[in-house]
Order: sequence, then C-alpha cells, then structure tokens
Amino acid sequence: MQTLRPCAVVCGTDDVASAAALRLVEAGYTVLLAADAAPAATRGAPSFAAAVKDGEARLDGVRCRRVEDAAAWLRDGAHDIACCAQPLHALLPILEPEVLVGAGIGADAAPLDPSRRAPLMIALDPGAGDGAAPDGADGVLQTILRHGGLPPLARAAVAGVVRNALTGDLALFAATLGFNRHEFRALVAACLPDVEPECEWEAGAYGLCASRAPALFAPLTELLLAHRAPGLAERPARWLAHALAAAGFGARHLWQDLGLSGRAEVSRLLGLCFPTLAARNVTDMKWKRHMFLVLGERLGRPGLMPPNCASCDSYPSCFGLPVPEGFSGDRRAAFPHRDAGRSGKGMTL
Ligand code: SF4
Repeated sequence: MQTLRPCAVVCGTDDVASAAALRLVEAGYTVLLAADAAPAATRGAPSFAAAVKDGEARLDGVRCRRVEDAAAWLRDGAHDIACCAQPLHALLPILEPEVLVGAGIGADAAPLDPSRRAPLMIALDPGAGDGAAPDGADGVLQTILRHGGLPPLARAAVAGVVRNALTGDLALFAATLGFNRHEFRALVAACLPDVEPECEWEAGAYGLCASRAPALFAPLTELLLAHRAPGLAERPARWLAHALAAAGFGARHLWQDLGLSGRAEVSRLLGLCFPTLAARNVTDMKWKRHMFLVLGERLGRPGLMPPNCASCDSYPSCFGLPVPEGFSGDRRAAFPHRDAGRSGKGMTL
C-alpha cells in the first residue's frame, strides 16, 4: 500500500497488547503502542515491552521501536510499529486513530475535540461490555469487522482495483466494480475518500462500463461471499468480493491488480475476510488459481482456469502443479497448454 494507512493505538506493551498490535498490523493499520514510562513486569510471555527500556524489541519477526514524539513518527510515514510514552490524551489528537485498543479504556480516551471522529474503542479485558474483544488479540479483529466494516487492508484492495482500472491495468468494467452508481458512490466514500466519483465519468459511460463484466464475474463474487467471515457485514463484504473478483480477471499477479504490496497481503486479506476459502488452499496455490479452481468445482467445471494468465512468467510453475486432492471431479495434472488460454480454448468467460 502506498499511502499512509489508518492508525490504531494500543494501550500498553504487555503480551496481550503486543499480540493485538500484530493482528492490527496484519489488517493494514499503522500501530502505535501507548506505553507506560515504567511498564509493569510482564508475565514472561513474548511482547514488545522491552522496547520501552531498550529502544527496540522484536516479536514474530516484527520490530517495534520507541519514539519520543508521535507527531514526528507520523510525519516520517509511520512505517513501523512504535511505542511512545506520551500520555494518551496527548497522543489521540495527534494520531486521530481509527481504533483504540486496551484494557480499562476510560474517559481519557474520549476525543478532546468533539468535532473529531471518535475511534472505535475495543477493550481487551473480559466482561467490558459490547465493545470488548471476546478472545484477546484475535478478538480485536473480529470486533473491528463487527463494528467497523472493512479493515484498511481490504479498503486498500478495493481502492487498488478501481485505480488500476482507471489507469488501464484492468478492464474498464473493473472501475465500476459492477455496481450501480448509488452503490459505487457509497463504496468510494468508504474506501477512496480522496476521490470525487462524479469527476471520473462522462454521462452514460458508467452504465456501459458496468455492464461489461465477464460472465463469470457474478459467480465468482457469490463464491467469495459464501465464504464471508462471521461478523463481516454483507455490504462491505460485497464491495471486497467484487474487487477481488474483478482483479481475478486481470493479467498480472492478483496482488498487483489489487494494488497491494505482495502475495502475503492477499493471504492475510483472504484469511481475514474469506477464511473458509483461504483455508481450502492447503497446497499454497496462487490465490487466483485457487479461486477459479474452487469456482469450477462449484459450477461443475473442474479445472477451471483464470482467463488471462497466458502472459504470466509464473505460468509453468503455477499450472504445472497437480490439482490438489479434495477438489471433486478432477485428479488430472492441471497443466493446460499455454496457447489454450491465448486462443480462448479452455477459457470460460
Ligand atoms: S499464472 Fe498463476 S501466478 Fe501467474 S497470474 Fe495466473 S494464477 Fe497468478
């Protein structure tokens, strides 16, 4: 992702707070840990607590560094997890976090300026009410899906597909994501707040582009929605499903057409928002191939291929792998001749 991501503030640096910070980073947030200047001793579990004293700590390969000034960290791009001992009431107006996580979040967490949007507050302590994360760090993400809709990674993917379509890297229908104008405006407001949707289209052009979706676009979106994460609201899930499906008809790697930074972000996105579909990819197949293989199974068309892979450098390795066991109706080595894709033979648009 190219732009500064929405911020999440996590109170504390103990093991639970640190695990929550990692989950938030995976969901696409830029994260700052609001640390006590002299944190209490931890229970020995891995955490970022050492960063307060030592200036730096690592957890699961992710670095957290101590910063003295949150505003400077933000100005520098907020590329890493940071911890900062500035008081919470000073941090909030600087960072304007979208999410605030911590045990015992109290009145000092409320925004000082009532004109500012209040963050989604998630308490890590059990029994703290409706905003509490029920299962510690993992529950934080479930709470965000339940209350806040799409996490930043998903919004970035939706925005990435629209931008890639407008620059010609995807077919133009993808610039509408197959929605009517009313729905597209709502999507833009949520995922591309810096874009004025009315400026993008000549009168009449929008409907024409939206109508040009490939025949398999709707079935692919429905497949994705059938695997929607529990708690993820239907409307934002549909925005994301349309974006993933539109990117699936691109000629580049899926992560490129989603505008993400790499395959790892696609893995995290699918695992978070469409977990049962992701869980079926037990052989670590490329995600685009996996989506179409599962779609083919659903449609009774085993071995269904993504339609525009013929020019991909990874084609031999990607399609040289056999169809994994567990996909009904096809045990063949799925390595169709590359020219089949070019000529349309074997394509099912
Ligand atoms: S050939 Fe494989 S790696 Fe290349 S774009 Fe298609 S699915 Fe992705």
